[in-house]
Amino acid sequence: MDMKRTAVPFIVLLVVTVACCPVASADIAFATPARTFGPGHVSNPADPRFPRVLLHVSLEISDADKARPELRTWSAITPRLCELWYSAICAQFGESDVPHEVVLRVVAGTGGHAEDNVITIGVQDILQNPTDYGAVIHELTHVVQGYRYGWFRNKGIGWLVEGIADYVRFYAYETDPKFGDIRPGKSQYCDGYRTTACFLDYVVRVYDGNFVKKLHRTLREGTMNPDVFDEMLATDTDVPVSRRETRADLFAHFLAEWQNKHGAIAAAMPPN
Ligand SMILES: [Zn+2]
Repeated sequence: MDMKRTAVPFIVLLVVTVACCPVASADIAFATPARTFGPGHVSNPADPRFPRVLLHVSLEISDADKARPELRTWSAITPRLCELWYSAICAQFGESDVPHEVVLRVVAGTGGHAEDNVITIGVQDILQNPTDYGAVIHELTHVVQGYRYGWFRNKGIGWLVEGIADYVRFYAYETDPKFGDIRPGKSQYCDGYRTTACFLDYVVRVYDGNFVKKLHRTLREGTMNPDVFDEMLATDTDVPVSRRETRADLFAHFLAEWQNKHGAIAAAMPPN
């Protein structure tokens, strides 16, 4: 066989492939490092145990922002990272009724939010922390949650919606779960975000492995009220009656465990 004649199309194919795929697999690996700890952590988002849920992410970014060299890596990695992690996030809830097209919109200013299948991220946040892919995982989790936008805020359960999104971010995706923002003596279970996420991790590990899935199902069905967390604990048929705890007792036990593990870190934290 003439090696020269076969090598030419191979080289052409290689060049075309590289030109069409600006995200090198090493970059994705950097944004998705291997995890080796904790039962909730996802060490491989492409694990075949997660039912495959297809996603296509369209990035919307202004020409001016697109031209910024600081945004080049973020813009190349983030859409593919979302697509890679979508199945794993859906699996956290046992959810398959989700959008398969998501718009990732970069806008002026700061802050991020998700509404239906549109994720909006402020460009200043990206410029300030260009490797904070966890913030996007949080917003992508809101897409999977799929709760009616604005409805939950009126029901007094916004803390829980945000806590669940941060639970997926910090306990499935991030590599450093101690990042939870706990202030013993000050933190409440309903503080939302990292504090609630940290408490949910405890409930899932120690009390009921399906608790977040159950919360999600209840939120999806729109039957939630501010007391539902307590009601679910009190009637949790997956936990023997003799082992059932109130939310206050669970939170106290959670804080005791957390202080045991992270007391030195907490002592070093500045007060709120
Ligand atoms: Zn959020």
